Amino acid sequence: MAPELVADVPGRALAIYAHPDDADVSCGGTLARWAASGCEVHLVVCAKGDKGSSEPGADVPALVEARAAEVAAAALELGVARVHRLGVDDGELENDHKLRCELVRLIRDVRPDAVVCPDPTAVFFGEHYYNHRDHRIVGWAVLDSVSPAAASPLYFPTSGPAWTVGVVYLSASLDANVVVDITSVIDRKAAAILCHRSQLGESGEWLGVAMRERAEQAGRLGGVSFAEAFRRVRLGQ
Ligand SMILES: [Zn+2]
Repeated sequence: MAPELVADVPGRALAIYAHPDDADVSCGGTLARWAASGCEVHLVVCAKGDKGSSEPGADVPALVEARAAEVAAAALELGVARVHRLGVDDGELENDHKLRCELVRLIRDVRPDAVVCPDPTAVFFGEHYYNHRDHRIVGWAVLDSVSPAAASPLYFPTSGPAWTVGVVYLSASLDANVVVDITSVIDRKAAAILCHRSQLGESGEWLGVAMRERAEQAGRLGGVSFAEAFRRVRLGQ
């Protein structure tokens, strides 16, 4: 069945991703579109991005600092209201009690109508890529934190009053069932991705072209020029 083109704009949204550039690539258009329509968008970046370099002697503290500044610049491009950084080392994320406790606290603080995160069930993409461990772990940790944990007062009882998230959008899914039209904000998505200069090297232009191609592909599913595709889960409906 063709994915449904959805125009719903949540009042508050919480996007939770592993690395500093993940959200911009995965759902930057949707976040920008929602923000432009009055949604209060929060972004959680779980890992520091401290391994985002292929240089053996890289200055890691400088890299972490640069990547935090890149996130702030990209968030400004997209209209993100607030960025929350958890500061875990790349590759060291675990879907454990500590991470779920932090995510539950954030969900209960922000009280989002919609949560956006990676689809942890998407592992193999074609013949040349499988999904990063950190992406898979964050995806499962977010799902476990949204429901049942954040919604039940008996989980993490000292982390704020229970909050029920209405809908979860899973990006980079192999089972997308909705698309969001990002035609009006495609340039802002591109600008946000280009903020991550430490990750681009010579590939900035190539990345912009690849991003537009992928957005065009998703757009064809919904009959629009550019889109982002998600697996949408409407909880409790
Ligand atoms: Zn990543």
